[in-house]
Amino acid sequence: MELLQDKKVLVSGASIAGLSTAYWMNKIGYKVTVVEIANAPRTNGAAIDFRGKAIDSISRMSVFEQLKSNRLNVEMIEFKNAVDVTVGSISLKSENNELPNDEIEIERDKFISILFDELKDDVEFIFNNSIIALTESKDDIKVTFKTGSQEAFDLVFGCDGIHSGVRKIWFGNESEYSHFLEAYFSITIVNKLLIKEKTMQMFNVPDKAITLNAYNNKTDIIFCFFSENEIPYDYRDVEQQRKIISRQFDDQSWRTQELLHEMMNAQNFYFDKFCQIKMSSWTKGRVALVGDAGYCASPAAGMGASLSICGATTLADALQKYSGNFELAFQDYNKKLRTFIEEVQATAETNIRENFIPRTEEAIRMRNEQKEF
Ligand SMILES: Cc1cc2nc3c(=O)[nH]c(=O)nc-3n(C[C@H](O)[C@H](O)[C@H](O)COP(=O)(O)OP(=O)(O)OC[C@H]3O[C@@H](n4cnc5c(N)ncnc54)[C@H](O)[C@@H]3O)c2cc1C
Repeated sequence: MELLQDKKVLVSGASIAGLSTAYWMNKIGYKVTVVEIANAPRTNGAAIDFRGKAIDSISRMSVFEQLKSNRLNVEMIEFKNAVDVTVGSISLKSENNELPNDEIEIERDKFISILFDELKDDVEFIFNNSIIALTESKDDIKVTFKTGSQEAFDLVFGCDGIHSGVRKIWFGNESEYSHFLEAYFSITIVNKLLIKEKTMQMFNVPDKAITLNAYNNKTDIIFCFFSENEIPYDYRDVEQQRKIISRQFDDQSWRTQELLHEMMNAQNFYFDKFCQIKMSSWTKGRVALVGDAGYCASPAAGMGASLSICGATTLADALQKYSGNFELAFQDYNKKLRTFIEEVQATAETNIRENFIPRTEEAIRMRNEQKEF
């Protein structure tokens, strides 16, 4: 039996998939290094949800009680019309006021900081760096970093998100795997309550949606819009991205002008397309992809964090089961996760049209009459 303690693994990306993978690889005995392109774990981002199978995964982590004690709970979703009248609503409050056992919602930042604090003494973190080349041999995989240094590892895990660098280097260009879902979104978080706490509000016109989500004296402002074709823009030019949103929503009613003003002036801003990553295998040689890098389902699934954590747990369980025989373990990982990922991706495609960005007035009216989301 191979001793995992003698083996070194490299995780690329220190976000939900990366920290979860680092957590489990460290627990089962690997010596873990995490390389992150940013200068610290990436904060910002709307609240995230762990649901279904993901609850089984996080309930096995030592940080479970800490995560639970920081959970949020949306009590009401309200659908608004142009003059701010509630035209439909969904109550998520249970009769006895107890929080559901099969879902944990938590601030993205809170999850990242809890997991990072748990790991920082046991795992080596390298910030401001990234992988630029990988060379595999019979015994190991040699990693060349952007700073020029080189190091050999037993395994490399690409947990570096939807625009994964590891996927590009090892599996091929993003365009081979990325499926555009004909929509874009932006997220801005303001440190004030724009609506009642524990409430979500949605305002739609055909092809456009604005969502507010209020918790812990903060409000997420989310703009989504349909776009048949991809829009060319510079990933690093945030001002250009803010203008894309502003142009899309400029002539809308409800509270749009106030919300656009908040979005334009906020420090934080996250913009991306709705898209999915579909790959026939998430592993090749000594490299495995976890989370959005391998199987992004898009925010329309509301399952990005759940898939990341389930992926990390499934991968670690397989490596432990096969005592570090990565070839067998990677086969197991691909097989065990496939059906779940495909189901979630299919749900996201339906969700985007039926719940998030309905394309006609009639579809919006039907969505507003729903009693479940
Ligand atoms: C700052 C931020 C805010 C987000 N906000 C939201 C949100 O509000 N709503 C939503 O639905 N989703 C959001 N997401 C995406 C969401 O976190 C993921 O969809 C999902 O949770 C899966 O997580 P992940 O770890 O696979 O990917 P991500 O969370 O995207 O994390 C990828 C990590 O890899 C790092 N990275 C990227 N390229 C490289 C590289 N070449 N080398 C090393 N590291 C690299 C990134 O900096 C990041 O830390 C956000 C992501 C980030 C990074």
